[in-house]
Amino acid sequence: MNRLKLILIIFFTAGLSAAVTSAFWLAAFNRGHVEDRSAPAAPVAPQARAPDLVLGPSGLAIPVLGVKAQQLSDTFTQARSGGRVHDAIDIMAPHGTPVVAAAPGTLEKLFFSKGGGGITAYVRSPDGKWLFYYAHLQDYAAGLHEGQAIRQGDPIGRVGSTGNANPAGPHLHFAVYQMAPGQKWYDGTPVNPYPLLAGRR
Ligand SMILES: [Zn+2]
Repeated sequence: MNRLKLILIIFFTAGLSAAVTSAFWLAAFNRGHVEDRSAPAAPVAPQARAPDLVLGPSGLAIPVLGVKAQQLSDTFTQARSGGRVHDAIDIMAPHGTPVVAAAPGTLEKLFFSKGGGGITAYVRSPDGKWLFYYAHLQDYAAGLHEGQAIRQGDPIGRVGSTGNANPAGPHLHFAVYQMAPGQKWYDGTPVNPYPLLAGRR
């Protein structure tokens, strides 16, 4: 009788121990599983909307589709008429080549300047500290409007020669301005876009 009792106790203890152990591993597994599900999703590639985007070392995209960094030239300090300095780079491309946003932001101003940039667009960075200027456009992208949220790679318009550009040499005049607090779209301090896009001077 004592012997049967002992055997029962042994079986009971072994069963209880197995149950506790499996409960522990089930809990551990489930916790791991939950953590996996809450892990952050893989970041969405910024060029998702424009697969041909070329990103410079600064993270800025070359704003004319199909243009490579080696094709850019640094004309930032070139003289312009009236004793002005260029303060921008010209990205040469055929009429109608898509112009896309180099960086995200808000479309602050659509402006036409007959004797200057022609059909132009100004996009301010989300932190307000940078302004990206696209000029001599042939036209705007469909539906483009002031106040619009712009993602990197979003269509701005097409390469043209409006304003004071030579129709024989269509290009995007692209400028980057550093903006002090309160500065308007026509203000700002020009920063050379060339090293930002091409990574060298
Ligand atoms: Zn220019």
